[in-house]
Amino acid sequence: MEVMTTGRQARRVQQIGLLTGLALLSAAPAFAETCSNPDALGTSRTIVVDPRDYPRIGTMQYAKTLPLRDKEVVLTFDDGPIPKYSNQILDILAAECVKATFFVVGRMAKEFPEGVRKLVRLGHTVGTHSENHPLGMNRMPIEQAQKEIDDGIAHTEAALGDPALLSPFFRVPGLRRAGAMEDYLASRGIQTWSADFPADDWRHVSPQTVHDLALSRLKAKGKGILLLHDIQPRTVAALPGILRDLKAGGYRIVHVEAATANKPKTPTAPQDWDLHPVSETVAITHWHKVPRFAFARIDMLPVPEITPSDQVLSLTETFDHLRRPRGTTPRPEQAPWPRVARIPAMPAIDALPVPAQSLFDIAERHQKPIKALVRLPHHAENDGIARLISRDANSERRTIPGAIPPGLSPTAAAAPR
Ligand SMILES: [Zn+2]
Repeated sequence: MEVMTTGRQARRVQQIGLLTGLALLSAAPAFAETCSNPDALGTSRTIVVDPRDYPRIGTMQYAKTLPLRDKEVVLTFDDGPIPKYSNQILDILAAECVKATFFVVGRMAKEFPEGVRKLVRLGHTVGTHSENHPLGMNRMPIEQAQKEIDDGIAHTEAALGDPALLSPFFRVPGLRRAGAMEDYLASRGIQTWSADFPADDWRHVSPQTVHDLALSRLKAKGKGILLLHDIQPRTVAALPGILRDLKAGGYRIVHVEAATANKPKTPTAPQDWDLHPVSETVAITHWHKVPRFAFARIDMLPVPEITPSDQVLSLTETFDHLRRPRGTTPRPEQAPWPRVARIPAMPAIDALPVPAQSLFDIAERHQKPIKALVRLPHHAENDGIARLISRDANSERRTIPGAIPPGLSPTAAAAPR
């Protein structure tokens, strides 16, 4: 069954490729702007982002992500171009009039520059993905990581022939992020893209698994950046079904471009960059759940007397709207609230007991100035007894049992142990 599906997909890809090739030959620049398939998934909107606003995006690794609405999806493809597969991916996207973002490898751009130019010509966004796709950029000396980034950009720009055609977007190979690398990218005004969910199309799984993971993970998050690869045959096989089911599920494709001097960024609010922003109405929707008590009897609390002219509702009237209509709910014999509690009367107390006056009559005597003060050893403080001892002129040593060993000077006792 899977072989038949794959066969149909392959034939469809061949047909799409033929159509796309003819269209490119006849009117290549205009192709990106037109969509001849009335049933296509299509690109619902384009958002323009300034990388400096949020230099790190994608909730697989960062707090922020693209400012997408519910059911909006951004398609991204890494590691190309490899014409054999990248062209098929482009054909499938073109047939559905869908725009995506491609993170190309510098070495690939150098080898297949036409493949990079084709991305831009078809209206897609191009970012970079390092020069050699090393899977240990997080462990590299920062100078080496910078060279990977710079060389990848240089070769992609060279393939495009115009640096302005390259978007300042970068995805770390293998998502092996590192702070120093991200800081360097941010210092160059480049946005680091993680993703919101992958489809594991780089693993040895079937196209059906890629399809299922893409859809199930999207459903779990509701929206987001999908990470795919345009160099994998299983992705080529899975993509038509993914796009078909995105449309069937009511999802919409969003294209992303970088802001320039002539292309202002799409206005957004800070919470738009959260995957699931906390709605300002959440508190309201939770708070209005007032328990619907049925009051059989309400005792009146003492209130100031109300004159007939006062337009004030009595307590009974205030609670009337909370009552259920008679007959809808059996009412308890006794009202659950308020409860009338009988508090026993306290015996009258004329005066509280006080210490005898004689306790405060302490005979005064002459005191010489205190010569030394010493804090008790640490173990005594730990017992909660922070006390001071003093020595008076008569050398009368007042001690606390166990506090200071006999013969130990106050100074020595104060030293930390
Ligand atoms: Zn990659």
